Amino acid sequence: MTLRFYDSATAAVRDFVPLKEGRVSLYYCGATVQGEPHIGHVRSALAFDQLTRWLQTSGLDVTVVRNVTDIDDKILVKAAENNEPWWALAYRFEQAFEDAYDALGILKPTYEPRATGHIPEMHALVAQLIERGHAYPAPDNSGDVYFDVRSWAKYGSLTHQNIDDMQAAADADPRGKRDPRDFALWKGFKEGEPETARWESPWGAGRPGWHLECSAMVTKYLGTEFDIHGGGLDLRFPHHENEMAQSQAAGHGFASFWMHNGMVTYLGEKMSKSIGNTINPREMLEIARPLVVRYYLGQAHYRSVLDYRPGSLTEAAAAVERIETFMHAALAKLFPGGDFGLVAKLPDAFRAAMDDDLNIPAALAVLHDTVRAGNTALAARDDAGTLLALQGVMGMTDALGINPTEAQWQRGGDATAETAALDVLVNAQLAARAQARKEKNWAESDRIRDTLAAAGIDIADSADGSIWSLKK
Ligand SMILES: [Zn+2]
Repeated sequence: MTLRFYDSATAAVRDFVPLKEGRVSLYYCGATVQGEPHIGHVRSALAFDQLTRWLQTSGLDVTVVRNVTDIDDKILVKAAENNEPWWALAYRFEQAFEDAYDALGILKPTYEPRATGHIPEMHALVAQLIERGHAYPAPDNSGDVYFDVRSWAKYGSLTHQNIDDMQAAADADPRGKRDPRDFALWKGFKEGEPETARWESPWGAGRPGWHLECSAMVTKYLGTEFDIHGGGLDLRFPHHENEMAQSQAAGHGFASFWMHNGMVTYLGEKMSKSIGNTINPREMLEIARPLVVRYYLGQAHYRSVLDYRPGSLTEAAAAVERIETFMHAALAKLFPGGDFGLVAKLPDAFRAAMDDDLNIPAALAVLHDTVRAGNTALAARDDAGTLLALQGVMGMTDALGINPTEAQWQRGGDATAETAALDVLVNAQLAARAQARKEKNWAESDRIRDTLAAAGIDIADSADGSIWSLKK
């Protein structure tokens, strides 16, 4: 096994060697639950789901922690606008995220801590930073505590920035700060804020800063040193830069690798509600099956920009159908009683592509080549060739979490239920047509074909029977 990943901190692809043999600790930043999930959130979770699955497929035992930021300025602002308790709003959107993740088959993390459940751990980290001379309570009695960026020489090293060129931290009143880039570890309680968003601390009542939350949670569950810290590219600065600074300033080794997924755009432009060029996971799931949405969001290299265009989901659906049609035809041919006894296999070229910083476009090319070879073998009635292709396709789709025969993609969703119902009805028509043909009743056979065609159903006849599909 020679896994190689791109590490944002060193800006290089290098060999991945877990800190503990055979085990991987992975933390990736989850949502600040202040609204519905957008496509960027889901792409990020999917990228780390693909990473997790590949590490597991490589024989590693993976511990995954993904946090929920359930206390934050934005949550308080939105809740006030809605005239709703902030904790109710946060929980409502946390469920919306869970639903979106579940719909796309994103594996549950090993643990999903909420920020509000880790205030004592955050206090301990702040106290440590003050003691080491890297943090200070604001002199204005606001209750704020700031990280002193000038006290930490490596500040800026994750994003390769010079401190003097960096943006000011816009997270608190700059008057109490030694440097405008100093960021809030603890935010003092202000008049008019909800009492439920207030925790006592040695520096005054208040609530935690966002960056501090992740550092405290990752350390609690994965230790002071762990293998991979991930998140969307938009989190690199200031969030991850600040996480790394405060944790390393506290004496923690922190992450060995930093992995960031690329953004999602719409026809080359950043999605924005004001421009109206947005599409969210809910809307995607209204026009495509969950398996198709997963395939679409997971097909690009995780570090590249994924550009959504109208038609993207139709193309993804066609790709999924090619895989699905082959698997169903091959399974029906080779295992008429079910897929019992089938051993999934991974082609070497697929493994090599995935080992190389998760090169999913190259891996998918191997998958589609195998499907083509499988179809050729099926047509040539070459059972050995069909079986080999089927095992490969099964192994590759399992590794990517897109195996169409998995129960995940059969249950739930009206579209799936409708497709299943349609399959039963059309297959009954096809059986009647096969019987008519056997009896040389060509009029009846043609009548059935015409009825199906009028309903928008195409039939492809082969020596092994007929396969139906919806007309494009
Ligand atoms: Zn985070």
